[in-house]
Amino acid sequence: MDISKLDKLIKPSGTMAISNKSRELKSQGKPVIGFGAGEPDFPSPEHVVNAAINAASDPKNHKYSPAAGLESLRKVIVETSKQYSGFDVKPNNVIVSNGGKQSILTAFLSTLDDGDEVLIPAPYWTTYPEAVKIAGGNPVFIDTEKDNNFKVTVEQLENAKNSNTKMLVWCSPSNPTGVVYTKEEAEEIYEWVFKNDLWILSDELYEHLVYEGETSPSPAIYDPELKNTIIVNGVSKAYSMTGWRVGWLIANDKVIGLGKKIQSQATSNVSNVSQLAAESALLNGLDVTNEMKIAFNRRRLFATEKINSISNLDVIDSTGAFYLFVDVSHYCSGNNGINSSEELCDWLLENYFIAFVPGEVFGSPGFMRLSYALSDEDLDIGLSRLNEAIDNLNE
Ligand code: GLU
Repeated sequence: MDISKLDKLIKPSGTMAISNKSRELKSQGKPVIGFGAGEPDFPSPEHVVNAAINAASDPKNHKYSPAAGLESLRKVIVETSKQYSGFDVKPNNVIVSNGGKQSILTAFLSTLDDGDEVLIPAPYWTTYPEAVKIAGGNPVFIDTEKDNNFKVTVEQLENAKNSNTKMLVWCSPSNPTGVVYTKEEAEEIYEWVFKNDLWILSDELYEHLVYEGETSPSPAIYDPELKNTIIVNGVSKAYSMTGWRVGWLIANDKVIGLGKKIQSQATSNVSNVSQLAAESALLNGLDVTNEMKIAFNRRRLFATEKINSISNLDVIDSTGAFYLFVDVSHYCSGNNGINSSEELCDWLLENYFIAFVPGEVFGSPGFMRLSYALSDEDLDIGLSRLNEAIDNLNE
């Protein structure tokens, strides 16, 4: 029997593939240092763990709860969105999901019909185009320029738009480049989206992780009725809670109405224990985030300097998230039998046990993404190995 045509259409997550490969090599006893998957190396905060223990001990939480999420958590999401992100919504505008990834898929399923086009500036996070395709849409990539710090321009958007264009995917601070659009740059893009009456899906998972200057304002600030705006956020990155799987979608009543139907059929509720853990994270403020930020910033500066000192590697200025996007094109031209950033990353993992995500995964060959959310010691050892590897290629 045939399986769905989706099989030929979609790829598995490239970032998860690198994590799985690293885990496999580690289980064989190899000294792998992972610059791959973007997840903070810190344990989740103690108050989060205690909230989860309490939640697990309460029989009320052993039962189904509303598909859109616990009322108490949705209220706290509304409060923190107002306090930290500056926009005002109602608990009914929120659906809690199994991580930002599920929110993104629910957003596409709730807005796209077959053939609708979604503009995705490249480099992009690997999941966006695949989730668009699962929802029946067509991803349309817009290649941004390294010389413009990988920022998309209104002119590029205008050239890519046609009558099928339905949405723009927006992620600032950016995964995978770490670039943060300024307020003025973001406003210009939002104005274009609203003027053209398109959707904007704003992935705000990294909003609190900005080390220089300000974070980008959310489009929801300029679109208080959420006519065009859909927000995705979650606790994974800001509170070091990737494994708990709690994210959320914020949108207008129509999107939320359909999103709830989809989620009620797909998963019922997110684990109550995880939801109450997330609630505790949000209620306890950004102290833990700010502590992690000190470490991330130290590592960002160290890694940027170190990489720029390695022959023919360079990295654009990254002021947010916890990623550096390294130009490795010099080493992808067939010398030493390495023809692409994908082959370079394979070679680095197999020979030097350092895991990076190749630019191909993000639609930008010739680059590789480095997550600096790992310990200072591993960062130092891993980058020394990278230096040694590149020295060998230059011999
Ligand atoms: N968002 C993280 C990353 O880009 C986690 C992995 C994933 O879900 O793709 O590495």
